Amino acid sequence: MEHPATIDINAPLALVQLSFKVELKALKWVLKGHRKTKKQVISVGMHRPVCPKCNRELHPDSNGVGVLDVTDNGEYEIWDADLWKCRDCGMEVVGGFARSPISAHYEDDFQKMIASYRDKGLLIKNTG
Ligand SMILES: [Zn+2]
Repeated sequence: MEHPATIDINAPLALVQLSFKVELKALKWVLKGHRKTKKQVISVGMHRPVCPKCNRELHPDSNGVGVLDVTDNGEYEIWDADLWKCRDCGMEVVGGFARSPISAHYEDDFQKMIASYRDKGLLIKNTG
């Protein structure tokens, strides 16, 4: 389940152009095989996270984990992200978030999306 790229129509033209440029660059990377999935497009132009203890780059351990934001009012939004892991010490961090949530509490498929990540053991709760 991947969201297409979105452009904020109220954004200044320069920002929209920049967004297109990043998107185009990302797609070229996917076509060349440098990126495994379209979702990793999000990470183009961003440095990989680094483990400060081992001085090593983290590597994506699981693509497509679901991060469920939980507020005082309950489950709020679910985001698709990547689980990064240090190959030396095993430290893990969730990053590479999509630009918008994959679903939110007011959407019909919200519980279905939560269940689909939970069933695969890929659901991570974020309580803030
Ligand atoms: Zn480490």
